[in-house]
This record gives sequence, structure tokens and C-alpha cells, in this order.
Amino acid sequence: MSRYWSNTVKNIKPYTPGEQPKDRKYIKLNTNENPYPPSPRVIEAINNAADETLRLYPDPMGGELRETIAGYYRLRKNNIFIGNGSDEVLAFSFPAFFEPAGKPVLFAEVTYSFYPVYTAFFNINYRLIPVDEEFNISEEGYYQDNGGIIIANPNAPSGKGVSEKTMEAILSRNENSVVIVDEAYVDFGGLSAVKLINDYPNLLVIKTLSKSHSLAGLRVGYALGNEELIEGIIRVKDSINSYTVDRLAVAGAREAIKDDDYFQETRSKIMKSRERVSARLTEMGFKVIPSQANFIFISSEQCPGGLLFQRLRAKGILVRHFNKPKVDNFIRVTIGTDDEMDCFLEVIKAIAGL
Ligand code: PMP
Repeated sequence: MSRYWSNTVKNIKPYTPGEQPKDRKYIKLNTNENPYPPSPRVIEAINNAADETLRLYPDPMGGELRETIAGYYRLRKNNIFIGNGSDEVLAFSFPAFFEPAGKPVLFAEVTYSFYPVYTAFFNINYRLIPVDEEFNISEEGYYQDNGGIIIANPNAPSGKGVSEKTMEAILSRNENSVVIVDEAYVDFGGLSAVKLINDYPNLLVIKTLSKSHSLAGLRVGYALGNEELIEGIIRVKDSINSYTVDRLAVAGAREAIKDDDYFQETRSKIMKSRERVSARLTEMGFKVIPSQANFIFISSEQCPGGLLFQRLRAKGILVRHFNKPKVDNFIRVTIGTDDEMDCFLEVIKAIAGL
């Protein structure tokens, strides 16, 4: 605590990202990164972009990348906002659409732990909507008066998806609120709401290249939605930092989206590994929440989540444990390569006392 800090900074509880320790070589299954490298075409595009034009600012509107994304989803450029990772797109969207000290924004009691950090930072009220024992969200919970809604689909850290019917019901019953759907993990088997954008002017879908395109280090995320919503986020961006996405990131991101074959191949490999590992863990007696993401959420009756986490760490395997009600008996395990997952299965079997 410093006497030089503003009251806002004194009072915030910042988000804690998953650890990236350097003390030894770990099998890293803790931050939902993709275990496969980005497409070689992406590396080539970034290399080609690393030239003397770096002395110039990038296009503040990211026009070329917006065109590429719009083309991919058959939308228009004005339906796309790009940012420095989807966390930034989320951070800009909260003040763009949710009123400080106003009606509460609704989100699930178990979801991405950055949402309450943003609401606190922007002084936005929120109300938690319960999830059931299997981490399904309660559709009815979203039918009350509110100042906005945010849903991660599939949800984190559970990996649970939301059905199309539920999503449409929530959208149509909340015409006066912006509904943000965070699709960071949707490419691993979830149902995207992008096709509903033309029907629901209150829908903002946020996606990222960090997971399904193996580009967590490039920092590119984007939002898709009605032109008015996009303009709202641009107004926030241009009140903070006009150039959030650099020239190298634009070049790499465009190529990542264009190389659809590579994307299809890596995401199918991960989904296949996820199903194999889930089946094996279920056989061993673990509770495995069915996942539509690139991670699984598991618990054991023999060994509490915190202990599983510590024992795996001692054996050089990093996973994520959340010390919070309803989830503290679980660990979240990112799907790695098949070799990494074989090693994980072997170690967890031994340490869980199975
Ligand atoms: N949404 C969810 C649900 C996430 O888990 C993450 C990754 N921590 C993000 C958004 C942000 O990802 P990025 O900023 O890398 O795009």
C-alpha cells in the first residue's frame, strides 16, 4: 500500500493470472494456452511485417484486420472491433455498456474471475446468478431487471456450454440490455452466437486468437456486434489509447484467420485429446464436467482439489486451482499435447491414491 496511490487503486483487488514460473521446466496445463505452435504462415507474415514501416503508427482502426475478420464471418467491417487481447475488449466494453452505480449486471456465480474485477474498477453493480451442481447456468436467473448481462460460453472454469435455445431466450427477454457473450473457448466445440448478431442488436460476441489460434503471446481479441455497439467500444478505446493493436499483431492475426485449414486441424486435435483424457479420468473414478473448451474441470472423492494441485505441482505439472466456494474441490486442467496428457494421467493416477 502506498500513500501515493489513488483511492481507486488502494481499493481494487486485481485479477491474478495463472502462474508462469521459471524455476524449473513444468508441463504447463494452467493457463489454457494452445500446446501447438501457431501456423507457420503466421510466423512468416510477422517476419515480413517486421520492416521499416514499424516507425509508423498502425492504423488506429485496424482496418485490414477488421476486413479479414468481417469476411470470415460474413459480416461488415463496422460490425468488428479489434483489441489487445479479449481482456482489453472486455475491459472497454464494461464502461461502454454498463452504468456506474446503476442496475446490477448479471453474471454466473461461477465464471471468469475477471468480470468482478472490471465491475469493481468501473464501480458497476453486479448480481451473481446461481449455477447448479453440474455448473449449468440458470436461464430464469437472467429474466430479472438488470443493467446488462455477461455470459462466458463455454463457461470458465467449468467448460460447460450454453444451448442455442437458452442463449436466444436470454437475448430476446433482455432487449433493453447489452448481452455480452464471451466466446474465448467456443472454437473447441461450443455453439457460437455470432449467427444471431443480425437478429439481436443488443448482442456483443467477444472472441480471441489466444486459445484456438495458438496466439496468446500476440494479444489479439475482437468483438462482433451491431454497428452501434462497436461504435460505443471505439469511443472508449479512443478515450484511452488509439493504437492498441500493433502492426506485427495485425499481420499475424490476419494470416491466422486466413489459414483456416491449420486452425481446423489443431482444434480437432485438442478436442480429440480432451475426449480421450476425459474418458480415461472417468474410468479412474474422477468426476469430469463435460467440456466444450480446451480444458477440463475435474474432482476426486479421494483427494481434495487443493491437494491435487499441490501434488501435481511438486511433480512438475501446473494446473489451476480456485480457492472459492463451489469450485475449491476441483482443478482445471488445460489440454496439452498427447504426450503431456499421457504424463499427466500417469502422475494423477499415482498421486490421487488410485
Ligand atoms: N475470457 C475468458 C473466459 C478467458 O478465460 C480468457 C483468458 N484468461 C479471456 C477472456 C482473455 O483472453 P485474452 O485476453 O488472451 O484474449
